[in-house]
Amino acid sequence: MGSTGEQPFILIAEDEPNIASFAKMYLEAAGFRVEVAGRGDVALERIAAERPDLLLLDLNLPGVDGFEVTRRIRQGGAGMPILMLTARDDAVDKVVGLELGADDYVTKPFDPRELVARVRAVLRRSDAQSAPPDPDIPPVLEVADLRVEIGPREVFVRGEEIALTPKEFDLLTALVQARGLVLSREQLLERVWGYTFLGDSRTIDVHVRQLRRKLGDACPIETVWGTGYKVPARR
Ligand code: CA
Repeated sequence: MGSTGEQPFILIAEDEPNIASFAKMYLEAAGFRVEVAGRGDVALERIAAERPDLLLLDLNLPGVDGFEVTRRIRQGGAGMPILMLTARDDAVDKVVGLELGADDYVTKPFDPRELVARVRAVLRRSDAQSAPPDPDIPPVLEVADLRVEIGPREVFVRGEEIALTPKEFDLLTALVQARGLVLSREQLLERVWGYTFLGDSRTIDVHVRQLRRKLGDACPIETVWGTGYKVPARR
């Protein structure tokens, strides 16, 4: 997005017409181009054809459900931001969706101002990812057996590439770059997700858990109880 100067294009995959048209109305008013797909399989076709800048994804969709939509997008290697729409108390759905590679979630029924703020934050982060590399940041970060290549966004453990989701990569990089410092969950939300008003640390904790699972003993992230997370200065 941004390079052509066009409005960012958001695809809403949601089968409840009231919710879809409510979200569409507010996102259009905020300056986005918006299309609605009422089925998961239709959403996948539109994604392949139109390459949206962001997908707003209901999990419980006819055709192909939202979990499977996320899995197929990430398996195809696409880094397109995915914002899940989840039911109020469905903590398990949120965790599973984040583990599959969604960037964040919005709980239904949502405040339209919050929806627009989340969409903007996710797009800002995704835009920053495609920006040219910052010359002040070393292009390769190494912590013992772990190697992070900033430009190509690749992570290696003892020479073997590990597939991370975009947010897992950003979280790992933020902590490795701040090596020796403790970062609170709020600071990590600000740096990686672009906002702080959430007060919900589940997103951070799920991503740290996934990084530990994927990187195994090479994961340098330590929990600092009651505070946040850090990568120790020496390891
Ligand atoms: Ca639904």
